[in-house]
Amino acid sequence: MQARLPAASTRLAGKVALVAGGGSSGPGWSIGKACCATLARHGATVCVLDARLDSARDALAAVQALGGKGVALQADVADPQAMQDAVQSIMAEYGRLDILQANAGIGKVGGPEDIDLADWERIQKVNVDSLVIASRLVLPIMREQGGGAIVAVSSVAGLRYLGYPHLAYNVTKAAVIQFARMIAQQYAPYGIRANTVVPGLIDTPRVRHTVARMFTADGDAEKAGAARARQVPMGRMGTPWEVANAVAFLASDEAAYITGTELVVDGGLIGKYA
Ligand code: NAP
Repeated sequence: MQARLPAASTRLAGKVALVAGGGSSGPGWSIGKACCATLARHGATVCVLDARLDSARDALAAVQALGGKGVALQADVADPQAMQDAVQSIMAEYGRLDILQANAGIGKVGGPEDIDLADWERIQKVNVDSLVIASRLVLPIMREQGGGAIVAVSSVAGLRYLGYPHLAYNVTKAAVIQFARMIAQQYAPYGIRANTVVPGLIDTPRVRHTVARMFTADGDAEKAGAARARQVPMGRMGTPWEVANAVAFLASDEAAYITGTELVVDGGLIGKYA
Protein backbone atom coordinates (compact mmCIF):
# COMPACT_ATOMS: atom_id res chain seq x y z
CA MET A 1 0.00 0.00 0.00
CA GLN A 2 1.34 3.44 -0.85
CA ALA A 3 1.69 5.90 2.03
CA ARG A 4 -0.45 9.02 2.06
CA LEU A 5 -0.84 11.83 4.55
CA PRO A 6 -0.50 10.12 7.95
CA ALA A 7 -3.09 10.19 10.72
CA ALA A 8 -2.80 13.15 13.06
CA SER A 9 -0.60 12.78 16.14
CA THR A 10 1.15 14.87 18.77
CA ARG A 11 4.61 13.40 18.12
CA LEU A 12 6.00 16.79 17.19
CA ALA A 13 3.76 19.00 19.33
CA GLY A 14 5.56 22.08 20.62
CA LYS A 15 8.36 21.77 18.08
CA VAL A 16 9.21 24.41 15.50
CA ALA A 17 10.50 23.11 12.17
CA LEU A 18 12.30 24.88 9.34
CA VAL A 19 11.85 23.11 6.01
CA ALA A 20 14.42 24.64 3.67
CA GLY A 21 13.28 24.03 0.11
CA GLY A 22 9.77 23.28 1.36
CA GLY A 23 8.02 24.40 -1.80
CA SER A 24 7.44 22.50 -4.99
CA SER A 25 8.78 23.05 -8.48
CA GLY A 26 5.28 22.47 -9.89
CA PRO A 27 1.68 21.82 -8.95
CA GLY A 28 1.22 18.77 -6.74
CA TRP A 29 3.25 17.27 -3.93
CA SER A 30 7.02 17.59 -3.83
CA ILE A 31 9.00 15.91 -1.08
CA GLY A 32 9.40 19.22 0.76
CA LYS A 33 5.73 20.13 0.57
CA ALA A 34 4.69 16.65 1.74
CA CYS A 35 7.17 17.02 4.61
CA CYS A 36 5.62 20.37 5.59
CA ALA A 37 2.16 18.78 5.68
CA THR A 38 3.39 15.68 7.52
CA LEU A 39 5.35 17.60 10.16
CA ALA A 40 2.26 19.78 10.72
CA ARG A 41 0.08 16.68 10.92
CA HIS A 42 2.23 15.53 13.84
CA GLY A 43 1.83 18.87 15.59
CA ALA A 44 4.92 20.87 14.58
CA THR A 45 4.84 24.54 13.69
CA VAL A 46 6.23 24.62 10.15
CA CYS A 47 8.36 27.45 8.74
CA VAL A 48 8.40 26.87 4.99
CA LEU A 49 11.36 28.42 3.24
CA ASP A 50 11.75 28.37 -0.51
CA ALA A 51 13.49 30.28 -3.29
CA ARG A 52 10.06 31.42 -4.50
CA LEU A 53 7.68 32.98 -1.99
CA ASP A 54 4.59 31.78 -3.88
CA SER A 55 5.90 28.23 -3.61
CA ALA A 56 6.51 28.60 0.15
CA ARG A 57 3.03 30.08 0.55
CA ASP A 58 1.49 27.19 -1.34
CA ALA A 59 3.10 24.68 1.06
CA LEU A 60 2.09 26.81 4.03
CA ALA A 61 -1.50 26.77 2.74
CA ALA A 62 -1.33 22.95 2.83
CA VAL A 63 -0.14 23.17 6.44
CA GLN A 64 -2.93 25.55 7.35
CA ALA A 65 -5.54 23.44 5.57
CA LEU A 66 -4.65 20.70 8.07
CA GLY A 67 -5.14 23.09 10.97
CA GLY A 68 -1.40 23.60 11.36
CA LYS A 69 0.47 26.84 11.75
CA GLY A 70 3.67 28.38 10.49
CA VAL A 71 5.15 31.01 8.22
CA ALA A 72 6.27 31.25 4.60
CA LEU A 73 9.75 32.64 3.99
CA GLN A 74 11.61 33.46 0.81
CA ALA A 75 15.36 32.80 0.68
CA ASP A 76 18.00 31.18 -1.46
CA VAL A 77 19.47 28.45 0.77
CA ALA A 78 22.89 29.28 -0.69
CA ASP A 79 22.66 32.92 0.43
CA PRO A 80 24.07 33.30 3.97
CA GLN A 81 22.49 36.71 4.61
CA ALA A 82 19.04 35.68 3.40
CA MET A 83 19.20 32.54 5.54
CA GLN A 84 20.31 34.54 8.56
CA ASP A 85 17.38 36.91 8.08
CA ALA A 86 15.00 33.95 7.78
CA VAL A 87 16.25 32.24 10.95
CA GLN A 88 16.15 35.53 12.83
CA SER A 89 12.54 36.06 11.78
CA ILE A 90 11.64 32.54 12.98
CA MET A 91 13.28 33.21 16.33
CA ALA A 92 11.50 36.58 16.60
CA GLU A 93 8.16 34.89 15.88
CA TYR A 94 8.46 31.62 17.81
CA GLY A 95 11.55 31.94 20.03
CA ARG A 96 12.80 28.42 19.23
CA LEU A 97 13.83 26.11 16.43
CA ASP A 98 13.85 22.35 16.97
CA ILE A 99 14.00 20.78 13.51
CA LEU A 100 15.93 21.68 10.37
CA GLN A 101 14.97 19.76 7.30
CA ALA A 102 17.47 20.58 4.55
CA ASN A 103 15.47 19.63 1.49
CA ALA A 104 16.58 21.92 -1.35
CA GLY A 105 18.50 20.10 -4.04
CA ILE A 106 19.34 20.59 -7.69
CA GLY A 107 21.28 18.71 -10.34
CA LYS A 108 22.31 18.63 -13.96
CA VAL A 109 23.03 15.58 -16.07
CA GLY A 110 26.59 15.21 -17.30
CA GLY A 111 30.02 13.87 -16.51
CA PRO A 112 33.26 15.77 -15.91
CA GLU A 113 33.77 16.62 -19.58
CA ASP A 114 30.23 17.89 -20.11
CA ILE A 115 29.37 19.90 -17.06
CA ASP A 116 29.75 23.62 -17.15
CA LEU A 117 31.89 24.76 -14.21
CA ALA A 118 29.33 27.42 -13.32
CA ASP A 119 26.67 24.70 -13.02
CA TRP A 120 29.04 22.57 -10.94
CA GLU A 121 29.61 25.46 -8.55
CA ARG A 122 25.92 26.31 -8.28
CA ILE A 123 24.99 22.68 -7.54
CA GLN A 124 27.70 22.55 -4.89
CA LYS A 125 26.39 25.77 -3.35
CA VAL A 126 22.73 24.71 -3.25
CA ASN A 127 23.27 21.08 -2.24
CA VAL A 128 26.23 21.35 0.12
CA ASP A 129 27.18 24.92 1.05
CA SER A 130 23.55 25.40 2.10
CA LEU A 131 24.06 22.80 4.83
CA VAL A 132 26.96 24.74 6.32
CA ILE A 133 25.02 28.00 6.03
CA ALA A 134 21.86 26.65 7.70
CA SER A 135 23.56 24.55 10.34
CA ARG A 136 25.83 27.30 11.60
CA LEU A 137 22.67 29.34 12.16
CA VAL A 138 20.55 26.64 13.81
CA LEU A 139 23.17 24.69 15.81
CA PRO A 140 23.80 27.45 18.38
CA ILE A 141 20.04 27.78 18.88
CA MET A 142 19.61 24.03 19.31
CA ARG A 143 22.60 23.81 21.65
CA GLU A 144 21.14 26.60 23.78
CA GLN A 145 17.78 24.80 23.84
CA GLY A 146 19.42 21.51 24.85
CA GLY A 147 18.72 19.63 21.63
CA GLY A 148 17.38 19.53 18.13
CA ALA A 149 17.20 17.41 15.02
CA ILE A 150 18.68 17.98 11.58
CA VAL A 151 17.36 15.87 8.73
CA ALA A 152 19.22 16.30 5.46
CA VAL A 153 17.89 15.00 2.16
CA SER A 154 20.33 13.09 -0.01
CA SER A 155 19.51 10.66 -2.82
CA VAL A 156 20.33 7.10 -3.83
CA ALA A 157 22.46 8.92 -6.42
CA GLY A 158 24.72 9.84 -3.49
CA LEU A 159 25.35 6.14 -2.85
CA ARG A 160 25.37 4.48 -6.26
CA TYR A 161 25.91 5.15 -9.97
CA LEU A 162 22.41 4.84 -11.38
CA GLY A 163 23.29 4.17 -15.00
CA TYR A 164 23.86 7.66 -16.40
CA PRO A 165 26.37 10.45 -15.65
CA HIS A 166 24.96 12.89 -13.10
CA LEU A 167 28.30 13.75 -11.54
CA ALA A 168 27.61 16.98 -9.67
CA TYR A 169 24.43 15.55 -8.18
CA ASN A 170 26.11 12.22 -7.27
CA VAL A 171 29.05 13.93 -5.61
CA THR A 172 27.09 16.57 -3.73
CA LYS A 173 24.44 14.10 -2.52
CA ALA A 174 27.27 11.91 -1.18
CA ALA A 175 28.60 14.98 0.62
CA VAL A 176 25.18 15.55 2.22
CA ILE A 177 25.43 12.14 3.89
CA GLN A 178 28.93 12.74 5.18
CA PHE A 179 28.00 16.22 6.37
CA ALA A 180 25.21 14.84 8.58
CA ARG A 181 27.46 12.08 9.89
CA MET A 182 30.11 14.61 10.95
CA ILE A 183 27.62 17.00 12.57
CA ALA A 184 26.12 14.04 14.42
CA GLN A 185 29.46 13.19 15.99
CA GLN A 186 30.39 16.69 16.97
CA TYR A 187 27.02 17.69 18.39
CA ALA A 188 25.83 14.46 20.02
CA PRO A 189 26.90 15.69 23.48
CA TYR A 190 24.49 18.62 23.08
CA GLY A 191 21.45 16.46 22.33
CA ILE A 192 21.51 17.46 18.67
CA ARG A 193 20.94 14.64 16.22
CA ALA A 194 21.73 14.74 12.50
CA ASN A 195 20.58 12.11 10.02
CA THR A 196 19.97 11.81 6.32
CA VAL A 197 16.99 10.54 4.42
CA VAL A 198 18.00 8.93 1.15
CA PRO A 199 15.09 8.86 -1.31
CA GLY A 200 15.07 6.61 -4.32
CA LEU A 201 12.99 7.37 -7.39
CA ILE A 202 10.12 9.48 -6.10
CA ASP A 203 7.14 10.73 -8.08
CA THR A 204 7.25 14.52 -7.68
CA PRO A 205 6.38 17.49 -9.92
CA ARG A 206 10.09 18.01 -10.65
CA VAL A 207 10.39 14.47 -11.90
CA ARG A 208 7.28 14.86 -14.05
CA HIS A 209 8.36 18.14 -15.60
CA THR A 210 12.14 18.28 -15.57
CA VAL A 211 13.42 14.74 -15.32
CA ALA A 212 11.00 13.63 -18.05
CA ARG A 213 12.56 16.19 -20.39
CA MET A 214 16.03 14.98 -19.46
CA PHE A 215 15.40 11.28 -19.97
CA THR A 216 12.94 10.93 -22.84
CA ALA A 217 13.36 12.32 -26.32
CA ASP A 218 9.81 13.70 -26.39
CA GLY A 219 9.62 14.75 -22.71
CA ASP A 220 6.67 12.44 -22.08
CA ALA A 221 6.22 12.40 -18.28
CA GLU A 222 4.14 9.19 -18.32
CA LYS A 223 6.75 7.29 -20.32
CA ALA A 224 9.57 8.61 -18.13
CA GLY A 225 7.61 7.69 -15.00
CA ALA A 226 6.95 4.17 -16.26
CA ALA A 227 10.63 3.75 -17.14
CA ARG A 228 11.65 4.91 -13.66
CA ALA A 229 9.11 2.59 -12.04
CA ARG A 230 10.49 -0.41 -13.97
CA GLN A 231 13.92 0.14 -12.41
CA VAL A 232 12.59 -0.33 -8.88
CA PRO A 233 12.27 -3.83 -7.37
CA MET A 234 8.88 -2.81 -5.97
CA GLY A 235 7.83 -1.83 -9.49
CA ARG A 236 6.81 1.72 -8.72
CA MET A 237 8.20 5.12 -7.83
CA GLY A 238 7.91 6.20 -4.22
CA THR A 239 5.47 8.83 -3.09
CA PRO A 240 6.60 12.07 -1.43
CA TRP A 241 4.62 10.91 1.63
CA GLU A 242 6.83 7.86 2.00
CA VAL A 243 9.86 10.13 2.22
CA ALA A 244 8.03 12.56 4.51
CA ASN A 245 7.19 9.76 6.96
CA ALA A 246 10.88 8.92 7.24
CA VAL A 247 11.73 12.60 7.78
CA ALA A 248 9.06 12.95 10.49
CA PHE A 249 10.34 9.83 12.25
CA LEU A 250 13.95 11.04 12.27
CA ALA A 251 12.83 14.48 13.44
CA SER A 252 10.78 13.05 16.30
CA ASP A 253 11.74 11.88 19.78
CA GLU A 254 10.92 8.34 18.64
CA ALA A 255 14.32 8.51 16.94
CA ALA A 256 15.99 9.88 20.08
CA TYR A 257 18.83 7.30 19.94
CA ILE A 258 19.38 7.57 16.18
CA THR A 259 22.06 9.90 14.91
CA GLY A 260 24.71 9.98 12.21
CA THR A 261 22.94 7.50 9.98
CA GLU A 262 20.96 7.20 6.75
CA LEU A 263 17.41 6.03 6.20
CA VAL A 264 17.04 4.79 2.63
CA VAL A 265 13.52 5.07 1.18
CA ASP A 266 13.86 3.46 -2.23
CA GLY A 267 11.67 0.38 -2.69
CA GLY A 268 14.80 -1.77 -2.74
CA LEU A 269 16.54 0.10 -5.56
CA ILE A 270 20.10 0.32 -4.24
CA GLY A 271 20.13 -3.39 -3.45
CA LYS A 272 20.30 -3.92 -7.21
CA TYR A 273 23.54 -1.98 -7.38
CA ALA A 274 25.20 -3.36 -4.24
P1 NAP B 1 11.49 20.04 -5.94
O1 NAP B 1 10.04 20.02 -6.30
O2 NAP B 1 12.41 20.78 -6.82
O3 NAP B 1 11.60 20.58 -4.47
C1 NAP B 1 12.68 21.32 -4.02
C2 NAP B 1 12.24 22.72 -3.63
O4 NAP B 1 13.43 23.41 -3.27
C3 NAP B 1 11.61 23.48 -4.81
O5 NAP B 1 10.51 24.25 -4.37
C4 NAP B 1 12.76 24.36 -5.27
O6 NAP B 1 12.35 25.60 -5.85
C5 NAP B 1 13.44 24.65 -3.96
N1 NAP B 1 14.79 25.13 -4.17
C6 NAP B 1 15.67 24.77 -5.14
N2 NAP B 1 16.79 25.47 -5.02
C7 NAP B 1 16.61 26.31 -3.96
C8 NAP B 1 17.41 27.30 -3.36
N3 NAP B 1 18.63 27.61 -3.82
N4 NAP B 1 16.92 27.96 -2.29
C9 NAP B 1 15.69 27.70 -1.81
N5 NAP B 1 14.88 26.77 -2.35
C10 NAP B 1 15.34 26.09 -3.42
O7 NAP B 1 12.12 18.57 -5.90
P2 NAP B 1 11.75 17.17 -5.25
O8 NAP B 1 11.73 16.20 -6.35
O9 NAP B 1 10.62 17.23 -4.31
O10 NAP B 1 13.10 16.90 -4.42
C11 NAP B 1 13.31 17.40 -3.13
C12 NAP B 1 14.64 16.91 -2.61
O11 NAP B 1 14.70 15.49 -2.66
C13 NAP B 1 15.85 17.40 -3.41
O12 NAP B 1 16.95 17.60 -2.53
C14 NAP B 1 16.15 16.23 -4.32
O13 NAP B 1 17.48 16.21 -4.75
C15 NAP B 1 15.83 15.08 -3.40
N6 NAP B 1 15.53 13.83 -4.11
C16 NAP B 1 14.49 13.76 -4.96
C17 NAP B 1 14.22 12.56 -5.60
C18 NAP B 1 13.08 12.39 -6.56
O14 NAP B 1 13.01 11.33 -7.20
N7 NAP B 1 12.17 13.36 -6.67
C19 NAP B 1 15.04 11.46 -5.36
C20 NAP B 1 16.09 11.57 -4.48
C21 NAP B 1 16.33 12.78 -3.84
P3 NAP B 1 12.31 25.74 -7.46
O15 NAP B 1 11.16 24.93 -7.92
O16 NAP B 1 12.11 27.21 -7.66
O17 NAP B 1 13.62 25.22 -7.98
